[in-house]
Amino acid sequence: MDEYFLEPPSYDRTLRQCSRIKLQNPEIKLFPIGKSFLGRKIYALAIGNTKNAVLFAGAFHAQEWLTCSLLMRFFQELAGAYTQNRLLLEVDIRNTLREKGLICIPMVNPDGVEIAINGTKSARHMQRYVETIMKQSDKKWQANVRGVDLNHNFDAGFRELQRLERESGITGPAPTQYGGTMPHSEWETRAVVGVCRSFRVRRVFAFHSQGEEIFYEYGEHTPPSSRLIAELLADSCGYRLVQNNGLASHGGFKDWFIDKMHRPGFTIEIGRGQNPLPIQDLNPIYSRLLEMMLLAVII
Ligand SMILES: [Zn+2]
Repeated sequence: MDEYFLEPPSYDRTLRQCSRIKLQNPEIKLFPIGKSFLGRKIYALAIGNTKNAVLFAGAFHAQEWLTCSLLMRFFQELAGAYTQNRLLLEVDIRNTLREKGLICIPMVNPDGVEIAINGTKSARHMQRYVETIMKQSDKKWQANVRGVDLNHNFDAGFRELQRLERESGITGPAPTQYGGTMPHSEWETRAVVGVCRSFRVRRVFAFHSQGEEIFYEYGEHTPPSSRLIAELLADSCGYRLVQNNGLASHGGFKDWFIDKMHRPGFTIEIGRGQNPLPIQDLNPIYSRLLEMMLLAVII
């Protein structure tokens, strides 16, 4: 297997691997969708008919970088089947992707992932800032470099989320669960929102770790088809369907997508254990989720 998948997916290694996938599969697209606060470009890979695409996104949370490895591995395999006109799980990929497409953002939060993998030095001029926030908490760093939790920063029930955060004693930048002063205040959030709007994506799948769970609801705008799709996905991999609760119930990417675009959005919590899940978990998780991810693209 590729060396890339044997180690944690640092930003530079991931970017090199994206370029390699593009080189081996000239028909796919690789393009920046925006930048992180520290100026690292956030990339998307796309394949098939992008006018009728679903979106996969991973590594919103710094410690959840295994979701990036998983999405890279899936995209690489899908692209390989497309280029070489091979079947994948008995699906004719080339034919299927004439109609349907996949846009994949493997690393939404590059600054956070760099802090998780390579330490606070990677935060450059923000190093002292990050270290100061770290000292005030015993929680692991999940946020972007500004101490904003990207999956609390989307425009869905934001006021209610702020109230819940304050009740839990979170009132400013923190390693995890602080949603910022207003929705979409962060560059990374706006980059993801921009892709959804400009491609008018049909569905979104946000990858997190861990728990082996699938979330599919958000309030009154949850489309009727969401539950059926979620059941199909859950059946294929044996993950549990769950409902939102507490601090995880507003401000998330899939919440915003359902609430504002009125289309199905899902959160998939991969794996089981303590974040960060070790890179050795990639193989078993990939085997278990391959069919589910393919279904998510083609149904
Ligand atoms: Zn997460």
